[in-house]
Amino acid sequence: MALIVQKYGGTSVGTTERIVSVADKVIQAKMQGNDVVVVVSAMSGETNRLIELASEISAQPAAREMDVLVSTGEQVTIALLTMALNARGCPAISYTGSQVRILTDSMHSKARIKEIDGTRISRDLSSGRVVVVAGFQGMDGNGNITTLGRGGSDTSAVAIAAALKANECQIYTDVDGVYTTDPRVEPRARRLERITFEEMLEMASLGSKVLQIRAVEFAGKYNVPLRVLSSFTEGEGTLITYEEDGVEEARIAGIAFNRDEAKLTVLGVPDHPGAAHQILGPIGEANIEVDMIIQNVGRDGTTDFTFTVHRNDVQRAVEVLNKVANDLGAREVNSDDSIIKLSLVGVGMRSHAGIASNMFEILAKEGINIKMISTSEIKISVVIDEKYLELGVRALHDGFGLEKTA
Ligand code: ADP
Ligand code: ASP
Ligand code: MG
Repeated sequence: MALIVQKYGGTSVGTTERIVSVADKVIQAKMQGNDVVVVVSAMSGETNRLIELASEISAQPAAREMDVLVSTGEQVTIALLTMALNARGCPAISYTGSQVRILTDSMHSKARIKEIDGTRISRDLSSGRVVVVAGFQGMDGNGNITTLGRGGSDTSAVAIAAALKANECQIYTDVDGVYTTDPRVEPRARRLERITFEEMLEMASLGSKVLQIRAVEFAGKYNVPLRVLSSFTEGEGTLITYEEDGVEEARIAGIAFNRDEAKLTVLGVPDHPGAAHQILGPIGEANIEVDMIIQNVGRDGTTDFTFTVHRNDVQRAVEVLNKVANDLGAREVNSDDSIIKLSLVGVGMRSHAGIASNMFEILAKEGINIKMISTSEIKISVVIDEKYLELGVRALHDGFGLEKTA
């Protein structure tokens, strides 16, 4: 008998009709002889609605209370799904994160899972029940409710699968797998039958929200067999593999993009040792994460220093930089939040030179100016004007031959 963990996202449980059809899918897996644990998200839009309610009350609600609030969305869906299963004659029981002891650190709104005690779940499974667990939430060592960051139910599912040594973790969503790029931006995107773990990790970290990055990290750490599938249609979905055998040599897996970054530049920085540290040190102390960094070649004793941060942090970063610029004797601080980061990902880059220049040529032909570039072993990222997002994605998709083959 196999043990399967299934996760259903917001759209998949977005209405009571959808919840009933999820119950049918769960029963189907159970009837095939599997033990089934189901992890669910809140109904689509619910988490945003709760965040909005809080903002009507307070500009800066306590992080602890935010987690108490936003974790309620998932409590609704575990109960409704369990009722639907019971109504169909399937024994089932629901649990919140803390009831099954999903132990996290205390970083409210972005907590990390430290440990899961699978005893209660295992006991229920052996008595023939389907176990339905609330995604996105856990509790810290002091019993406070925590949440795992947006999209965190993916991580709950993978972590539970790892703790129970499940045979497969299935992420059911509103697309039927991982595509060469977001099918909402490029309708000609193609579903991948397989994607390597490393590629998936890059795609997720570069902005493909189909899987939360931490879910992919967790899957890699514990070698959890992971599959992304549709809750609306039948199919094999996309398997995340841990071997690169059988992957075509020249392979580009796909294109990811991130709309959440902004660019900051300090102009006229005195070109002397320690300047980069003097700029990024205070940024780090303000708990602002930095992504891409470039420093221009110095001329006339000064240089320009540019880096990107999350858009939510721009205001704070500018405040920090204005002070730094003053201390350093730099000329000016600029910020630009109308940029996006576009990335090409593929293990084929390891063995194929020239992919970067191909990418730049394709973008140039469309008249898209590149503002920043960064590369690593299996990815190339560029920062461009946000108005070129669709054009850039589609041109690269076409230029690298990623479109549907049929
Ligand atoms: P859920 O609510 O089920 O967790 P999400 O909205 O978090 O669903 O993730 C699914 C969405 O991810 C899709 O609707 C799609 O628009 C988006 N997406 C972004 N990049 C990709 C990609 N490479 N492949 C498939 N979907 C992607
Ligand atoms: N409900 C949470 C969110 O909207 C978690 C999730 O759906 O994975 O981010
Ligand atoms: Mg999601």
